[in-house]
Amino acid sequence: MSFIRTLSGDIAPDTLGFTYSHEHLVCRPAYWVARGEDDLLLDDPAKTQADVEAFRDLGGRAIVDATAIDYGRDVPAVAQIAKNTGVTILLTAGFNKSFLWDAVMPGGQNRRYDDWIAEASMDELIKFVVSEVEDGMEGTTHRAGQVKFGTGYNVISELEEKTLRAVAQAHHATKAPIHSHTEAGTMALEQIKLLRQEGVDPHNLSVGHMDRNPDPWMHARVADTGAYLSFDGMGKIKYYTEQVRIDCILALVKRGHREQILVSGDTARKSYYEHYGRGLGLRYIIESWVPRFIEQAGEAGYDGTALIQDFFINNPRRCFSFKQ
Ligand SMILES: [Zn+2]
Repeated sequence: MSFIRTLSGDIAPDTLGFTYSHEHLVCRPAYWVARGEDDLLLDDPAKTQADVEAFRDLGGRAIVDATAIDYGRDVPAVAQIAKNTGVTILLTAGFNKSFLWDAVMPGGQNRRYDDWIAEASMDELIKFVVSEVEDGMEGTTHRAGQVKFGTGYNVISELEEKTLRAVAQAHHATKAPIHSHTEAGTMALEQIKLLRQEGVDPHNLSVGHMDRNPDPWMHARVADTGAYLSFDGMGKIKYYTEQVRIDCILALVKRGHREQILVSGDTARKSYYEHYGRGLGLRYIIESWVPRFIEQAGEAGYDGTALIQDFFINNPRRCFSFKQ
């Protein structure tokens, strides 16, 4: 029996509903605190909750919080938001890209992330990820619904490869789905090559930030492996217009990959949130992007409503399942 592991327990995949597949809800990364980067601190759970409520009131049902241990996440605060709003939330085990995050790591006071990864044995890293999925995260009983690793811009460092291999083994041990961070959408195929060396079937992987590298040839190669492609920068016009992202998505649809596309907003700044002040907010995709996509998909000869059902309901349901 497959299931999806959420903050409200393990649920039947069919009950997941309309899902944003890569967001950030509450986090205070020590690295950004130390540098006074206030925009990168999602530090007021009440404001986050107001955005989640807007999403829910528009028909949203589930959110995947993609924040890993190095990014100052707040598991109890996110759990409280799930409880208060009734929105299903999935948490993320594992790692981010390698970086000099000065965060508190397991087994040390303010131990640097890179030092921790370098010093830990492969076995210790695997055990850590497995425990976040099976026992709970950061001293709580809240368990993760996916396992994550990340890689850098046009490079996979030695430590990133170590975390990738640990996450692959934790996936084998737990059956948790895998999510990856790509920096600016690079190194997706290289990630998949390494995962395959570890015996991972790419159907169990979603690759993040694919729209930061709006290259239909590369997207097609990734899709050919069976992996999910996460287009998670909706609303970020500073990177690309929505048209660029929609064209990439429709190119994949045309090639027969409609069942491998995920869509989300990756809201990791105050300025992306409505209730922290200035942003489009969690309401944006469901309220504005979805109707625009349906219209443009229709002009291209597709049933846009059916595609939206795939991207936000049918695909997340499959992607985030633990397949026993
Ligand atoms: Zn993210």
